[in-house]
Amino acid sequence: MARVALITGGTRGIGAAIAQALVQSGHKAVVTYQGNDEKAAAFTDETGIPARKWDVGDFDACQTGIAEVEESIGPVDVLVNNAGITRDGTLHKMTAEDWDAVIRTNLTSAFNMTRAVINGMRDRGFGRIIQISSINGQKGQMGQANYAAAKAGIIGFTKSIAQENARKGITANVVAPGYIGTEMVQAVPEKVLEQIVSQIPVNRLGEAEEIGRAVDYLASDAAAFVTGSTISINGGQCMV
Ligand code: NDP
Repeated sequence: MARVALITGGTRGIGAAIAQALVQSGHKAVVTYQGNDEKAAAFTDETGIPARKWDVGDFDACQTGIAEVEESIGPVDVLVNNAGITRDGTLHKMTAEDWDAVIRTNLTSAFNMTRAVINGMRDRGFGRIIQISSINGQKGQMGQANYAAAKAGIIGFTKSIAQENARKGITANVVAPGYIGTEMVQAVPEKVLEQIVSQIPVNRLGEAEEIGRAVDYLASDAAAFVTGSTISINGGQCMV
């Protein structure tokens, strides 16, 4: 039977490419999003992949959302925590709201979503948890203390749950993308973007599909011995 894969923030950008890669390898995918109904409807029309709307930063909404998905589609075998936001600003100007929003959406969400599926995975003896971190969680970035803290936090979270659940057939891994040409990156001013690309040895932005293929590998049976790892996909911009 096809495994069910849930990808948060899967209606556009990297998440959409991950969902499509997982469908291509035989998974039954479902994606979530927060507010952009138009993009979600267009994505479902184009791909046939159902979309559900809830805030991954809200613990109760994750519990309710997962219960509904498991009832209507099936138990979640593969969870991809991909949804994320940026609220950039140097620390000396950063508001508490921008700090909280980024930590909640990018880090607390991983707890909320994983907590909602982990007992089912443990009971069934199989699970794949894949977190989308960032190069900036590995190396830090001016103007992104909130985002870098959340994305670094994801790595420690994943290594811990990898140890807790390894004997239950569950792996937990991180993919840390560099700069990928999605709306999030297209929002960066052109001059800054040119400067960023000049620091990437491969000399281009990455493609969302390149992240999708790595996630698909981590979700597969072939990756059963890979757990607690971080795969960097950044064109050589940061080698850790
Ligand atoms: P996009 O901004 O293109 O898409 C973000 C997705 O997340 C959308 O589907 C959005 O829903 C959803 N989302 C945002 N907030 C919430 C929330 N609170 N609850 C549920 N869903 C939410 O992002 P990218 O594809 O660029 O990035 C995907 C992930 O990859 C993020 O975690 C990002 O930090 C990470 N990343 C991206 C890089 C890049 O270069 N683009 C580089 C490194 C890491 P809606 O459409 O409704 O707003």
